[in-house]
Amino acid sequence: MRMTQPHIQPRLRIAPSPTGQLHVGTARTALYNFLYARHLGGEFFMRIEDTDVTRSKREHADAFCEMLRWMGIDWDGDIIYQSDRFEMYTQAINSLLEKGLAYECFETPEELEAINAERKEKKLPPGYDGRARNLTQDQIQAYKNEGRPRTVRFITPDSGTSEFEDAIRGKVSVLWENVSDFVIERGDGTPTFFLANAIDDIDMDITHVVRGEDLIDSTHRVLALRRALGNAEQPFYAHTPMILAPDRSKLSKRHGAVSLESYRDAGYLPEAMVNYLVLLGWAPSNDREIVTLEEMISEFDIFNVNKSGAIFDVKKLEWMNGEYIRAMQTTSIVTRLKTMADARYGSSYDFERFERAVELAQPRATTFVAMLDQMDPLFAQDFSIGQEYVEALRSTDQAIEILDAVEKHLTDCDWTLVGIDLRDVVSEIGLKPRKALPAVYIAIEGSTSGLPLFDFIELIGRDEAIRRMRNAKLLLG
Ligand code: GLU
Repeated sequence: MRMTQPHIQPRLRIAPSPTGQLHVGTARTALYNFLYARHLGGEFFMRIEDTDVTRSKREHADAFCEMLRWMGIDWDGDIIYQSDRFEMYTQAINSLLEKGLAYECFETPEELEAINAERKEKKLPPGYDGRARNLTQDQIQAYKNEGRPRTVRFITPDSGTSEFEDAIRGKVSVLWENVSDFVIERGDGTPTFFLANAIDDIDMDITHVVRGEDLIDSTHRVLALRRALGNAEQPFYAHTPMILAPDRSKLSKRHGAVSLESYRDAGYLPEAMVNYLVLLGWAPSNDREIVTLEEMISEFDIFNVNKSGAIFDVKKLEWMNGEYIRAMQTTSIVTRLKTMADARYGSSYDFERFERAVELAQPRATTFVAMLDQMDPLFAQDFSIGQEYVEALRSTDQAIEILDAVEKHLTDCDWTLVGIDLRDVVSEIGLKPRKALPAVYIAIEGSTSGLPLFDFIELIGRDEAIRRMRNAKLLLG
């Protein structure tokens, strides 16, 4: 069943908490919000949820915005910072207190822990037992005089059910007896996530809330707050499934790179990243995988987002990035890679060779950084063979014979690709190229994969090729 769209002019938002780098999951949520807003012809806003002053940093917020721009995502209007709006939240909290819908509490962290332990013993869900609901003014004053920390809690119903309709998950409900009175103002006077989130969605007239499933439980509390603040109208909700690691646990730092920054720095193209992210939970028509942002906007429908979590597969991302690199003009790759090459090799490397190396790397590319890694044996000052490959060379059958034959051939062959071709050379000593050429690869490029071998040999020139064959033989002793 499709829910009706609540407003004519949809207004969506991304509401990151700037406590670290941009997680790929948040990047995908931002993308889905942006796509759905544009698809519906609505607006998309940026709200920084930085009420937790101890954990939030402006530099993370700035980086978040920069990364979204990098992805090609833009937003409408000015960025809203919750930290600029404390006054509004305090007013709302005071009005809830005045209406008797919230109350002041004075427990110390140790006392709260004890309450939790007590509940655990009674097999009750963790939370607060509401003991301060009916404090008298005198008690409150006495606690204040004691200098105890003061928090404000919102009163949740003791019985009944909270229910809302989610575009992806369907009906979502919870028993109120399992949701205890929750904090809306912290001891330091700052509002909590629930409060600021509820107020801002009302204040910004947000019509559609698309966000990660990890927040689904908070929605009951946010909706209760909205009602208490006099806003019975419910936005349209869609909670997207989590992004998972290959072992199907929630993707986190222990699985490797999880920030968008790390993928940008590893040389992924924003177009490829966006394309990959959109597929984590949604698929365009006709089994297509490569889709432009314009196509995504025209086809994206939140009702077609999967219920189950999507696995973050770096291999697939690499493949996709490679597809984008292959589709680029070689000259524009040269331009973009040159800056990175200058930083890596200084300014003395041979630019013509560099252009040729880019041509060679492009058809097999995964990322810009991987392309440059393949060029290292060509341009890096200190070419050497890593220990792992020295071992591989040593355990190759007839290694000396192979290297001798190749050296001899390279000494007087025509210096063209056809002339350099080593397949017959190794066949003549009774070996299959597949078996014998990895040793030559190691001698020339320092590993068993990289730029195509014969082209590479042609590029480094006869003298250098022979020198590398001899050095490799020295390693064999
Ligand atoms: N600030 C929340 C977060 O970064 C998102 C809140 C929301 O989208 O409603 O997880």
